[in-house]
Amino acid sequence: MRLSWGASAAALAASASAASLADVCTVSNVQSALPSNGTLLGINMIPSTVTASPVYNASAGMGSTETYTYCNVTVTYEHTGKGDSVVIKYAFPKPSDFKKRFYVAGGGGFSLSSDATGGLEYGAVGGATSAGYDAFNNSYDEVVLYGNGTINWDATYMFAYQALGEMTKIGKVLTKGFYGMASSAKVYTYYEGCSDGGREGMSQIQRYGEEYDGAITGAPAFRFAQQQVHHVFSAAAEQTLDYYPPPCELAKIVNATIAACDPLDGRTDGVISRTDLCKLKFNLTSIIGEEYYCAAATSTSLGFGFSKRADGSSTSTTPEQSGKVTAKGVQVAQAIYDGLHNSKGERAYLSWQVGSELSDGDTTWNNATSKWEMSIPSTGGEYVTKFIQLLDLDNLSDLDNVTYDTLVDWMNTGMVRYMDSLQTTLPDLTPFQSSGGKLLHYHGESDPSIPSASSVHYWQSVRSIMYPHLSSQESLKELADWYQFYLVPGAAHCGTNKLQPGPYPENNMQTMIDWVENDVKPSRLNATVSSGTYEGETQMLCQWPTRPLWKSNSTFQCVDDKASIESWTYSFPAFKVPVY
Ligand code: CA
Repeated sequence: MRLSWGASAAALAASASAASLADVCTVSNVQSALPSNGTLLGINMIPSTVTASPVYNASAGMGSTETYTYCNVTVTYEHTGKGDSVVIKYAFPKPSDFKKRFYVAGGGGFSLSSDATGGLEYGAVGGATSAGYDAFNNSYDEVVLYGNGTINWDATYMFAYQALGEMTKIGKVLTKGFYGMASSAKVYTYYEGCSDGGREGMSQIQRYGEEYDGAITGAPAFRFAQQQVHHVFSAAAEQTLDYYPPPCELAKIVNATIAACDPLDGRTDGVISRTDLCKLKFNLTSIIGEEYYCAAATSTSLGFGFSKRADGSSTSTTPEQSGKVTAKGVQVAQAIYDGLHNSKGERAYLSWQVGSELSDGDTTWNNATSKWEMSIPSTGGEYVTKFIQLLDLDNLSDLDNVTYDTLVDWMNTGMVRYMDSLQTTLPDLTPFQSSGGKLLHYHGESDPSIPSASSVHYWQSVRSIMYPHLSSQESLKELADWYQFYLVPGAAHCGTNKLQPGPYPENNMQTMIDWVENDVKPSRLNATVSSGTYEGETQMLCQWPTRPLWKSNSTFQCVDDKASIESWTYSFPAFKVPVY
C-alpha cells in the first residue's frame, strides 16, 4: 500500500483505528510518512534506509509485565552538506492502541536511551537515536575525544541536546503520516527521564521547547561542569584536611545525623523530611565520640558511577572497623556538606543535603600499607581528565597539587567550554512556556550524587529570569501554572534510599497526561512509601517552596518557612559570570 498526503492518506485516516498493524507497518507507508526534505531545515532523510517490522505481543519498557504489539521502524538521515549519518528508531503502537502521543525517554550516565518502546504503555510512539556516534552501543564519554586534545564537538552537541530534538521533530511528522493524521493534528509530546535523563529533558525544553507538551525531569545532571567536578570534591576535602575516614566512620556520621534529624519534621519515621531544619538546628559535632562498628566484609560496590565504562562494579575486601567518631571525621563530613569554596572563602558550589550518604567520600583499604586511602570517584575524575584536561584517561590517578582553587578552575573551564552544550542551565524557558508546555521537576532530597539544592537553584534561576518584575507571590503563582518542582523526602538518586524509608512518586506520567490533555493542574505530587513502618502509605508531596511538617503520625501540612527556603538559596561568587 503506497500512501501519500492525498486521497489514500485521507482514506486511511478515516479508518486509522480500524487499520491493523500489518496495514501500516510497511516500508512504503513509513517512506511516504517521512518529512519531505526541505521541511526540516538541515535534515535530509534517506528513504531507502527505512525498515519496518511488526512485533507482536512483546514485552516493552523497563520492568513492565505488559506485552505490546507495535511496529519497529528504523531510518537514517544526514545533516545537509555534512556527510554524516544518524540512525533513528521508533516504536509505533498498533493503530487501535495509539492515543495521539509521542514519548521520549531519557538515558543516564553518558548514555542516551537506546530503547524506543517506553511510550507503548501510554499509547505513544517512542523513539531513540544513534546521535551520529552509534549511541545505541557507545557511551558519549567513549567518543568525546578524537585523541588527546581534540574534542568531538559533533558528538558533544548531539549528546547535549541536538540528537533528541531532531529525533522528536522527525518523529512527530512521521507519526502523523504513519497513522494518516492531518499534518495540523495534535500529537501530545512527552519527555520523561532522571539523572542525565533529567538533564536531557531540561535540554529539550531549553532548546526545543515548542516541541514538547509535557516534560518530567528527575534529579537533572545539569550545571554539568560544577556537577561533575563536585564528584571530586569529597576526596579533595579529605586531602585538604589530611584525614581519610574509614567508610564505617562516615556511615556512622550519616546514620547518627538521620537519627537526630528525623523527628525535626514532626514524625519519627526514619526519614529526614526537612533537611533544611537539620541544617539549621543540628550540629554534626554532637556525633563526636559515638562508637561505630562494621564487620570485615567482601563487598561489591556499584557506586554512583556516571560513566558506562568507568563505573563497572568492583569487589573489595575491607577489614573490621571499629572506633569512635573523631573530630577530624566530623570536620570532613561538615566540609563536604558545606560545599566547595575557593581560598578566599567564596562559594563555588552547593553540596548534598545534610543526612545524605557520603559515598563520594568513601576511602579504600590498602592491604599493603594497612591504611584507608583516597579513592577518587571516576564520575568526577573522568570528567576532569577527558573534558577539562582533554586526555583520554578514565580517571585522575591522584590529586597531587590539587587544591580547592584547582577545583574551582576546573569548574570554570568546563562551564565556559561547554556553556552552550553540556551545561544545560539556560534559564529562559519562554518558548516552552508560551507554547503551553508543562514541566514536572522532582529531586530526591537526600540524593548523594546530584545535590537536590542544584535543582532548587535552577528553579530559582528560571523564576528570577522569567519574572523579574513580579512580586514574590505573583511569580510563584505564574510559575506554578506550568513549572512545578517537588523535593522527595528522604529519597536518594532517582530512587528510594536504603537509609531512609521515604515516599517516591510512581505516577508521574499519569499526572502529566492529566495536566496536558485534561487541564488538571497538580498542586501536590502523588508518592508512595515502599518500605518500613509506613510501607504502602500515600503521601501527597508538597510543591516547592512549601515544606512538609507532620502534625500527627498520619497528617502533614505544607508550610511556608522563610528560614528553610533561605537555607536552600545560594549564590556563587567564586565565578565572575552568573551561574544559573
Ligand atoms: Ca521524620
